[in-house]
Amino acid sequence: MRTLVRELKEKVGQEVTLYLTLEVLRDQKHLQFILGHDKSGTIQLVIPKSKVQNHEEIGQLLTGSTFIAQGLIVEAKQSKTFGLEMQVERIEIMSKSQAWPITEESSIDLRFDYRVVDLKSAKSQLMLKLRSAFEAGCREYLYSKEMTEIHTPKLMGTASESGSQVFRVEYFGSYAYLAQSNQFFKEAAVASGLEGVFEIAPVFRAEASHSTRHLTEFTGLDVEFAWCFEVHEVMKLEEEMLIHALSKLEPFVEKVKEIYGIELTTKPTVRYLSLDEAKDILKEKGFKLGKTQDLPDEGERILYEILGTDLIFVHDYPIAKRPFYHMWDRENGTTKSFDLIFKGIEITSGAIREHRLDVVSQQTLEKGVSLESVSYYLDNFKYGCAPHGGFGLGIERVIAKLLGLSSVKEASFMPRDPDRLTP
Ligand code: ATP
Ligand code: MG
Repeated sequence: MRTLVRELKEKVGQEVTLYLTLEVLRDQKHLQFILGHDKSGTIQLVIPKSKVQNHEEIGQLLTGSTFIAQGLIVEAKQSKTFGLEMQVERIEIMSKSQAWPITEESSIDLRFDYRVVDLKSAKSQLMLKLRSAFEAGCREYLYSKEMTEIHTPKLMGTASESGSQVFRVEYFGSYAYLAQSNQFFKEAAVASGLEGVFEIAPVFRAEASHSTRHLTEFTGLDVEFAWCFEVHEVMKLEEEMLIHALSKLEPFVEKVKEIYGIELTTKPTVRYLSLDEAKDILKEKGFKLGKTQDLPDEGERILYEILGTDLIFVHDYPIAKRPFYHMWDRENGTTKSFDLIFKGIEITSGAIREHRLDVVSQQTLEKGVSLESVSYYLDNFKYGCAPHGGFGLGIERVIAKLLGLSSVKEASFMPRDPDRLTP
């Protein structure tokens, strides 16, 4: 039966079986020492060559090799592994690793070439676990709001609402498009009568961007819910979701400090600003933006530098900068929309949507989009639909900012960008 490393404190004086991955091996005249880990911790093994027959083969093992070790757990004051070690009686080798082609100091591109090795590093392991916990925290909050998790198609018959930036793939003698947004589908879910829905799924963007904030495939957390009327209701829901999810990262604080050398934000500061207010603040710093402009990337960064607030909700973007399906406020020339800036980078766009068929049709035409091209989308509103709003959040951007990563790519399991489709 398998014992985990974290259970060894209660196993002193007993024979146990451990399933381990080799970290380092030291080969001496009569003894071999191995540091090995499982998912729960690291333990030192002492192998007396006189007792263990396959010690020569063991001596050849490199970092990453996997094995099953049987032996006696003893106290060893000098051992760094909780003052315990294993006196090995038997080792069964499961897999022999080749020499690793990268170190943590290798270039980012080489590390991505060998992502399967890169993912073994303590940094990557922590990133993956933190990311999973963050998503779990968001889910937990959304379920508590009685929302339904949905899975919408990623193959589309037409390029989606906003048109550009789509990948086209062959589809039985014709073409399909990879979804660059699930906007249409999540609103269809709301129209169906589900009053709150969310999805955590891939989003494809065919933009040839070589920035540190763009992937061609990223993970979107999309939320849409009925019976909200003002943009503040949507922002509030997202704020609560993020406060909840980040508070759930508390158990990671020490490890993040140890491995990344930074303070993990689990209690973010929050601020709400209209876009005009944001522009006024930027103007004082000599950063001038016109009435119909939105915030350029640099503006988002500078706003964070000035205010120092982790989460900055910026609302009421001009009609000129928002799509036809947002709810417009013609009097003010604005929309009931927002962006959320986390530590200087946009992580979310959201809005109250236009649910009135006549109004959304008019807005469609004013944006120079034909009604035929969005006829399926308009069907959402033809047969009855509650007022609603929602938002889309990029998971990799949140994780990159939380861990101080150099790029969103480092927060992706296997990043996809214009130059990378493998591994
Ligand atoms: P940006 O202006 O920063 O390129 P966007 O406004 O085009 O982003 P949205 O369409 O609003 O992006 O998508 C919602 C969220 O999805 C963004 O706020 C961001 O967190 C994330 N996101 C968008 N595009 C990408 C991408 N190419 N790679 C990673 N995350 C992305
Ligand atoms: Mg956006």
